[in-house]
Amino acid sequence: MIIHKFGGASVKDAPSRKNLARIIRDNIQSNAVIIVSAMGKTTNKLETVTAEAFAENSSWKQSLQNIEEEHLHIAENLFAENRVSAFEKIREIIKTTREALQDSIHISYDKLYDFVVSTGEILSTTIIYEYLKEQGFELQHLQAHKLIITDETHREGKVNWDATWKKISASIANDSRIYLTQGFIAGTEEGVRTTLGREGSDFTAAIFANILDAEEVRIWKDVDGIYNADPKIFPDAVLLPRVSYRECVELAYYGARVIHPRTILPLKRKNIPLYVQSFKNIKSQGTIICSHNINSVDIPCFIIKNNQCLMTISPINLGFMAENYVEKIIQILKTRGIRINLLQSSAVNLTVCFDFDEYRFIALRRDLENHFEVRYNTALELLTISNYSEECINEKISGKDVLLKQQSRRTARIVLRNKK
Ligand code: ASP
Ligand code: MG
Repeated sequence: MIIHKFGGASVKDAPSRKNLARIIRDNIQSNAVIIVSAMGKTTNKLETVTAEAFAENSSWKQSLQNIEEEHLHIAENLFAENRVSAFEKIREIIKTTREALQDSIHISYDKLYDFVVSTGEILSTTIIYEYLKEQGFELQHLQAHKLIITDETHREGKVNWDATWKKISASIANDSRIYLTQGFIAGTEEGVRTTLGREGSDFTAAIFANILDAEEVRIWKDVDGIYNADPKIFPDAVLLPRVSYRECVELAYYGARVIHPRTILPLKRKNIPLYVQSFKNIKSQGTIICSHNINSVDIPCFIIKNNQCLMTISPINLGFMAENYVEKIIQILKTRGIRINLLQSSAVNLTVCFDFDEYRFIALRRDLENHFEVRYNTALELLTISNYSEECINEKISGKDVLLKQQSRRTARIVLRNKK
């Protein structure tokens, strides 16, 4: 059994989908699960729709309609015979989402988010399934929210492994069949849609691999593999042919948008190798991620996380930052669904850096200001350099203000602001 995952770029338009069918024909003959994410930037667009609807800004209707039209346009260019039936399916899916949005006042933001944003994967797998069927492939189309069971933590569902094991084992046989399902989407035992966190379809692939004891996972991307920096930002980035599980987790944790950070553990537990490979350039060697005892990567790696907030929290009346305060602050951050990217404490302050999300931020500030003094900066960049040298740090921070810097022997982490 091999698990293949195709990211948003590999299904972004009709030619990409034709390429996908070619890859499947040439490389995936049998016994496989194919996991697909939403097309291109659909997830971001659906996030916008959710935010607009929640703010009672009627522009969401047009935004959703644009998404519908993009998908219809793809279907128009893709199908020969089944065009009308594909159109109908797309319209039906969008209709359900529209109805949920019209009713949005009754549910929480995060719950609405999961329902709306997961539409992207449902649309993309439906189109691909219909297209592959038209091309003569025989495959089983499964709904991921009935297979991957999580708790009710919306936008970052915690997987219930026992329940998921039961569902997947009951629906997927280790035989010659090929299965197609959505990445990123999960559901509660009651059938309410949840998601696994942004970029979560890699994690979906790892869950299937772990439960089905797969031989390997293959992630098909628009780049040749994992690089020491984002090649879209750093043109001289270097491909890393081998990365250990541990290094991959570190890179992902620091914010490298290569692999979702939760992907590695389920694979490591069963020693399943993960290949990252280009769908544009099938012959390229790619990157293999597996267990190595030594560090495989010995060149500097640069990871940038944008849209950061750096917040300094102090007890009112200049009290010391005692443990019970730290505990309280962490609890508040956790309740508001905020993950700390970097933390520093001093006698009177606790400083945290995290991804800025407007809705969560407003609630967080309100909670914290009941007990503490709060100061913050937004629109910052968090730069992590592993295997750093002083020269490469200086080169990367030149022209920017350093708001915070932390250094261990191997890794430097710096919060930066563009000079005004
Ligand atoms: N479509 C989702 C996202 O863009 C999940 C994924 O692509 O892995 O975050
Ligand atoms: Mg995506």
